[in-house]
Amino acid sequence: MKQILIIGNWKMHLNVHESSVLVKRLSDNIRIYRDVEVVLAPPSLSLYSVSKEIDRRKFHLAAQNAYFKDEGAFTGEVSFTMLREMVEYALIGHSERRIYFQEDLPTIRDKVASAIRNGIKPVLCIGETKQEKDNGETKQVIHDQLTTALADLTAEELENIVVAYEPVWAISTFQGTLAKPDEIKSVIDLIRHNVSELYGKNAADKLKVIYGGSVDDQTAPGYLAIEGVNGLLPGSASLNYKKFTGIVEAAHNHIHR
Ligand code: PEP
Repeated sequence: MKQILIIGNWKMHLNVHESSVLVKRLSDNIRIYRDVEVVLAPPSLSLYSVSKEIDRRKFHLAAQNAYFKDEGAFTGEVSFTMLREMVEYALIGHSERRIYFQEDLPTIRDKVASAIRNGIKPVLCIGETKQEKDNGETKQVIHDQLTTALADLTAEELENIVVAYEPVWAISTFQGTLAKPDEIKSVIDLIRHNVSELYGKNAADKLKVIYGGSVDDQTAPGYLAIEGVNGLLPGSASLNYKKFTGIVEAAHNHIHR
């Protein structure tokens, strides 16, 4: 059964207590649907407490980031090895990491490889900036971000990858312009085309591609209706339990429309 994947990226919001309050609200409101997989991505500080509080039938967990070395003298970092019992997914290459923390293509490739080595499914975030879009560079940017990140993976490992298309200009904290369905569809087709060139059509068809960029409970149905979109990655809206619950409901309704 194909499930819709909804991942809530809490970014650098909520301390341990506040995370606990949100988890309680989400637990009380979100229903278990076999056709919707709900993933929470709290800050790493709260991952452990949230992991103890959630019903694993209802929620899975994602890290927002980790370092590619398994252990060592890397002050301030947390490794995928340390996270592997706690999370099923990890966001990798989010535009905020690329822009604010200068994560380059080889770093992101190494993080993808490390996540896979540690049994964590990478949610590889890719997307062009406004300037790249305006310069007509979207195709090249998507190609480069995708092919570098997947460089070390076998076809079998690719089955554990999720690709999140997040145009930087559509993310609420950058410019927050709502992307049009045809703009999203053309890049999602491009992603599958690139993957097909690397791994064949079958692998490209099976690849899970989700969309993120100012998604909320109102816009979710429209984004889910775009052919080739297998889920959503809301940021700001995932901090609001009513909006996030609405997105999960929209996913369930989409399957049963
Ligand atoms: C994100 O952080 O991945 C994101 C898409 O944020 P927002 O939904 O707030 O635009």
